[in-house]
Amino acid sequence: DNETSDSVEVQQDKLLGGLLVDGLDENSCLSRYQSAMYFHKWLSEKPSSYLISRLRTYEAQHKQCGPYTESFNKTVEQLRSGQFSETSECKYVVWISISGLGNRILTLASSFLYALLTNRVLLVDPGKDMTDLFCEPFPDASWFLPADFPLNAQFNNFSQNSDQCYGKMLKNKVVTDSTVASFVYLHILHDYDDHDKLFFCDEDQKFLRNVPWLMMKTDNYFIPSIFLMPSFEQELNDLFPNKETVFHFLGRYLFHPTNSVWGRIVRYYQAYLAKADERVGIQIRVFDTEPGPFQHVLDQILACTLKQKILPDVSYQQDAINSSVIPKSKAILMTSLNSGYFEKVRDMYWEYPTVTGEVVGIYQPSHEGYQQSQKHMHNQKAWAEMYLLSLTDVLVTSSWSTFGYVAQGLGGLKPWILYKPENRTAPNPPCRRAMSMEPCFHAPPFYDCKAKRGTDTGELVPFVRHCEDMSWGLKLV
Ligand code: GDP
Repeated sequence: DNETSDSVEVQQDKLLGGLLVDGLDENSCLSRYQSAMYFHKWLSEKPSSYLISRLRTYEAQHKQCGPYTESFNKTVEQLRSGQFSETSECKYVVWISISGLGNRILTLASSFLYALLTNRVLLVDPGKDMTDLFCEPFPDASWFLPADFPLNAQFNNFSQNSDQCYGKMLKNKVVTDSTVASFVYLHILHDYDDHDKLFFCDEDQKFLRNVPWLMMKTDNYFIPSIFLMPSFEQELNDLFPNKETVFHFLGRYLFHPTNSVWGRIVRYYQAYLAKADERVGIQIRVFDTEPGPFQHVLDQILACTLKQKILPDVSYQQDAINSSVIPKSKAILMTSLNSGYFEKVRDMYWEYPTVTGEVVGIYQPSHEGYQQSQKHMHNQKAWAEMYLLSLTDVLVTSSWSTFGYVAQGLGGLKPWILYKPENRTAPNPPCRRAMSMEPCFHAPPFYDCKAKRGTDTGELVPFVRHCEDMSWGLKLV
């Protein structure tokens, strides 16, 4: 009957189409089951049944191999003693916490997918504040690496010069068929070299397959290059029939704001965004040595949003617009380290009426001045703002910004991307629509593993393309 089918639907929604498991404690992580109530346009697309079943097997594996389980203790003991058998039941990817929060979210999703594809368990270095930002995503077992993990003290020192760095091992020619290593450090940072980049070759994965502990530092969304590896092709096809949804589904599965971040999100949303007829997000990230605000950035924001009719134009001739119909309301959520752009746009709609009669409210939750990624409160705000942006109906983002990528990906939105200004001038055209909601991989390898020579990896397959905002980047479309 109707009532049951309704409640089944509500139930389905709460679990995001089966992405989440039911039965986890609600109070300790309110966002997990409440988030569906805030996403107005839940993607018409559902996660594939194969992705759902793989997540459930992953959860079982995580439970079996998670911190302080028998298998975990055994593998850690082997790491301590340096003696191990090839047959360790559980193998791990350890994600080491570095860089800004947008980057961290993208690299966690990348590392998780890599773990899923290689039957490893993902463990997360809690760093300074990861536990304050994200709920545990997996049932019954923590994803945080324990404080007494034997390699913790070395995390800071892992670099391209470490003897355990995979690229360095290749350079030193210590990777042979008979090489065994209890752990390897993978350097997948923007400054990595041609040897480190061989991580993305199937041949090299054969060696890595036997290493129980892979320690990874990365500041890049490296999934597009994983899609170019033949050995993962079939599995990825089955997991993601629509390649544009990779980060969306992984992100909605993994990243649940903790109650303190969720409180911020819900309070702000209900106070400023919920009642509007339409919500617009404008994410302003300026990569300049000076803090701004800059006139050319303001010009660009207005040029883009007015031209694309994202914001209504104002009338400089009329003092007021006489309208007999109830005006539509738009809530504009602006995010930026600087409050200058927000103030100018807000003042414009205070001083002049809109030509459409629409009522426009402009809101900016914080203006932190500059990036302070070591501070708890600062990162909580950043996370809340990325999430709030993802709850909008129309999104405008800044080029090169992982902060914006997270918002668009979680929200399932194809944003309007503001082109990066050169020489402090507003580019013309000011913006373009994104091809897909996927983040951009900023530092992909340009190498053909089979032919062993350089190649344009953005031209190999139709679903991996160069990004709109960075000509050498790669993204899934
Ligand atoms: P990206 O540098 O734009 O790729 O994004 P990241 O998130 O990796 O690093 C930028 C960091 O600067 C964020 O994590 C925040 O700490 C801070 N930040 C940048 N823009 C904003 C903003 O609009 N709001 C807030 N609260 N913080 C911001």
